[in-house]
Amino acid sequence: MKIKYSIVIPIYNEENIIPELYSRTTKVLGSVDKTGYEIIFVDDGSNDHSLEILEKLYKKDSKIKIVSLSRNFGHQEAISAGIDFAKGNAVITMDGDLQDPPEIIIEFIKEWGKNCKIVYGIRKNTKESFQKRVFSKMFYRVFNKLSNVKIPLDAGDFCLMDREIVDILVNLPEKVRFLRGIRPWIGFKQGFVKYNRDKRYGGKAKYTINKSTKLAINALASFSYLPLHLFVGIGFFTSLFSFIGIVLTIIAKFAGIEVVKGWTSTIMVILLLGGIQLIMLGIIGEYIEKIFEETKHRPLYIVNKLVGITPNQLPRGRQVSK
Ligand code: UDP
Ligand code: MG
Repeated sequence: MKIKYSIVIPIYNEENIIPELYSRTTKVLGSVDKTGYEIIFVDDGSNDHSLEILEKLYKKDSKIKIVSLSRNFGHQEAISAGIDFAKGNAVITMDGDLQDPPEIIIEFIKEWGKNCKIVYGIRKNTKESFQKRVFSKMFYRVFNKLSNVKIPLDAGDFCLMDREIVDILVNLPEKVRFLRGIRPWIGFKQGFVKYNRDKRYGGKAKYTINKSTKLAINALASFSYLPLHLFVGIGFFTSLFSFIGIVLTIIAKFAGIEVVKGWTSTIMVILLLGGIQLIMLGIIGEYIEKIFEETKHRPLYIVNKLVGITPNQLPRGRQVSK
C-alpha cells in the first residue's frame, strides 16, 4: 500500500492526551484518505505510560508506527527522527498536545494541491500564557531582524512538507536543528494556512522557559552572523574612543595639566570595556559550541525501539540500536 500522508507527532509524557489525539487525527485522515496514511509517534524518552499506550494503539491499528528514542532528546530532534522514518508523499509534523488542531491538515493538503512544496501553519491567536506569547512574538521579530533567512512571522513547527523537501531535509548534515529556520532556507514554493492555536488538551507544557531560551539561542547562532559582526563594529567604535582618549591624555601631560584625579572615570572605562569584552566572548562561545557540536559527529538521536517500522534506508548519521 502506497503511503500518501505521514503524520509525525513528538510525544513526551503525554499519556492523558494520546487517546483523544489518536481519535481526532484518525478521524481527519479517514475523511481524506481511508488507508493511505501512517501516523508516526516519536516517543521522546517519556517516563510515564505514553509508550505503552501507543503500543496498545498499534495492536489495534497498523497505520500507527512508533519510534521510541533512548532518552529525551528534545522536540526538534524528535520531529527530525519522525521525518527520517516517514514514507509518505507529504509529511505533516504536528504537536502532540492538540494545540495544533488536526482538522487543519485538510487545509494543508488543499494548499499542497496548489503545487506548494511546503505549507506551514501561521498562528492567528494562541491561548498561551502571557509570558510565552510575549517571548514568542519577540523571538520571531528579533530573529528576522538578525537572520539571513526570514521565517514567516508566527509560523510554528506545524506544517506539511512535500517528499522533495523531506528528502533534502533528511540529508542535511547539520546536528543543531531549528526546523522553522531550515524550512525557508530550503526554498521552493511555500504556502500557508492561518489557524487558531488551541489550549493544551491536558498535562503540562514541556517547553520550559529554559528549553525555549535554548531553542532561541540555537536558532540565532545557526542562522545569523550579525551578533558577531555587530561586536566587531562595537570593537572598532570603542577602540576609536580609546585612541582619542590616549591622544587627549598625552596632550594634557605635555600641556602640564594635573591629571591625578581621574580615578572614577578610569574605573568606569575599565568596567565598560570589560563588560563589552565579556559579552563578546560569550557570543563567540555560543558559535564555538555550535561548531563543537557539529564536529563531534554524534548522531542526532538514538532509537531504542521501532514498532511497525523496518529501519532500512536510515539517513547518514542516524543510529538505531535494535
Ligand atoms: N516534546 C518532545 N520533547 C521535548 C519537549 C516536548 O517531544 O523535550 C513534545 C511534546 O510532547 C509536544 C510537543 O513536543 O507534543 C510540543 O511541546 P509543548 O506542548 O510542551 O510545547 P509548547 O506548545 O509549550 O511550545
Ligand atoms: Mg504545546
